Amino acid sequence: MKLSDSVTAIKGLGAKKALQLKKLEIGEIQDFLYQYPREYQDKRRIIKINETENEAFALVQGKVILKVQTGYRRKQMLRVLVEDATGAMEVLFFNGRFLMKELEHESRYTFYGKVSVENGKRKMIHPEFYRGMDFKTGIIPIYPLARGITQKDMAKWHTTALDLMIQAECEYLSKDIIERRNLCGYDYGMKNIHFPDGKNHLKAAKYRLIFDEFLLLQMGLLKMKNYMENHSEGIAFSSNKGNIDDFINTLPYELTKAQRRVAKEISDDMEKKKTMNRLVQGDVGSGKTVIAEIALYKAVKNGYQGVMMAPTELLAKQHFEGLTRDFRRFGIKVGFLGGNMGAKDRRKTLEEVQNGNIQILVGTHALIQPNVVFSNLGIVITDEQHRFGVNQRRSLAEKGENPDVLVMTATPIPRTLAVILYGDLDISIIDELPPNRQTIITKTSKFSERERIYGFVKKELEKGRQTYVVAPLISESESLENVRSAEEIYEELKREFSGFSVALLHGGMKQAEKDFIMNEFYENRIQMLVSTVVIEVGINVPNSTIMVVENAERFGLAQLHQLRGRIGRGQHQSYCLLISDCKTSVSKERIDIMVSTSDGFAIAEKDLELRGPGEFFGLRQHGIPNLKLGDLTKHISIFNEAKEEAKRIYAQDCKLQNLEYKKLKNRLEYFYKQQDAMGL
Ligand code: ADP
Ligand code: MG
Repeated sequence: MKLSDSVTAIKGLGAKKALQLKKLEIGEIQDFLYQYPREYQDKRRIIKINETENEAFALVQGKVILKVQTGYRRKQMLRVLVEDATGAMEVLFFNGRFLMKELEHESRYTFYGKVSVENGKRKMIHPEFYRGMDFKTGIIPIYPLARGITQKDMAKWHTTALDLMIQAECEYLSKDIIERRNLCGYDYGMKNIHFPDGKNHLKAAKYRLIFDEFLLLQMGLLKMKNYMENHSEGIAFSSNKGNIDDFINTLPYELTKAQRRVAKEISDDMEKKKTMNRLVQGDVGSGKTVIAEIALYKAVKNGYQGVMMAPTELLAKQHFEGLTRDFRRFGIKVGFLGGNMGAKDRRKTLEEVQNGNIQILVGTHALIQPNVVFSNLGIVITDEQHRFGVNQRRSLAEKGENPDVLVMTATPIPRTLAVILYGDLDISIIDELPPNRQTIITKTSKFSERERIYGFVKKELEKGRQTYVVAPLISESESLENVRSAEEIYEELKREFSGFSVALLHGGMKQAEKDFIMNEFYENRIQMLVSTVVIEVGINVPNSTIMVVENAERFGLAQLHQLRGRIGRGQHQSYCLLISDCKTSVSKERIDIMVSTSDGFAIAEKDLELRGPGEFFGLRQHGIPNLKLGDLTKHISIFNEAKEEAKRIYAQDCKLQNLEYKKLKNRLEYFYKQQDAMGL
């Protein structure tokens, strides 16, 4: 048996259990090693009843001296009084009738559970219990389970995996690093993360494994960065050929201070021989488009072409229209390439791109296709980057000879995460909104107040405004309890708003259909758009002033912020109405944040805090492996130490060809097993 064998190589582990383990992402025996306990039970020491503390887990041993059954049916409860030499404690079991016989009067049991102390009285609800000393002592791991698999199974299989690990001699870090960073050994770390010999052992194990995660992560990022550096000899645009002030002076407004700063950062980058790789972060409405225009202007004036990619057809079209308008006076020709164009238009556009007649090309993913060939591509801009993967960005850039790259995102990302997500990019931040922006009024209401909300919406529509209604699900078939689907809401609102044009839009529709509906809404032939989050990304319909979000608790904060960014874009007062019957304190906290601030960065920080980095924008989607222990918001210093070591290794042997790195290389490959998005 080897670590890389399928789990079915373990005796007594058959196909059925293997199938369940798959759900826990365990397929090979070594996967057990990296499936860490979700918590631990400290069953090392029996605590005297009068020494137990409020809200703390404890192992208590005592004699059953009284058993009472109370209540009927669903309220039925078993109350047991347990006593040791120091005092008594009540143990409660809801629906515990069946335990009446099992817990014998005058017998001694050990209970493990959370103690609550109220007025000096101690209580444990639903503890685990064992007769006498019939349980395993120690710090006991608790693993996530799947159907038909018990903690006992898990403990056994993990033990098997650990035994194999010891034979295999898996340590892949050099003595050097281990000493310098004060790490415990790999075997020690693995053994103690699963079956800790003590609290300090566990702590050391965690530290080591967090360090490992960060080190591996950094190794991957360095590889990516190295790719960039091999492509770093780029174009040095000249300043006098494309003086950006000539463009800025034609704008109908003054740039904000933040815009001016970012424009300069970009312009300076472009003048350097080194290829620009820059991320522009700016909240919704902060004016990123004009920044893109400035960069495009400079490139075109230097005799190069520019390309700008947006995630949806409508957004690309809006950019196309805006750019056409803004560049006309300079005689710069802007072209458009989308998914649903006629063959003839398409051919003509492609031709003009290839012969250089079109100087700026705007479009969707369609731009990446191999038949799109530029004559002289100098700058590549992607808008709303979080929708595109690293590879897409790269494919587009490969259409030129190391063109400058600008990535724009409206999703503010806390600095720590930006370093990970965009490790290869420099970052510019537009942290200021243009003046005279209206404040959007955000209100939350309960489901029972819906009618009033829609009464208000009707009044706005009668004034000529438009509204978005967003739901978390498309149809009822995927329905969760108490969550209403877009289809359901659409049917209802269509009836209620019979005098208006109401339309449904969702992610399951064909692209052409979606584009058509979005366009109808844009042209104000649809007044009410019921949809799923497909409208999240940057469209601009200034006449729509209301955003109703149904089951708002089901959305992430960043998503809600994006949704709210769709309104407040014109001269009319706008309203964001969040409908929700919050069940948990976290969802209530989220909704409250939306009401109290409109600062995208504050919201993003909070989102990260509430949801944890794993969930945040789905790191995995970006090709970042799920960190199991490492938390970028908490372990910054470990992160930095790992980074230094990763750099050191990389500088020595970037391809990890030396024998001494063989194990590290294997580990790295395992870590990035399913991650080809990083181009590893
Ligand atoms: P986003 O950052 O969300 O992409 P846009 O670039 O779409 O924002 O800009 C939103 C609106 O603000 C546009 O109508 C744009 O013309 C306008 N705008 C941009 N910069 C300024 C400014 N400095 N002063 C006034 N209006 C501005
Ligand atoms: Mg934008």
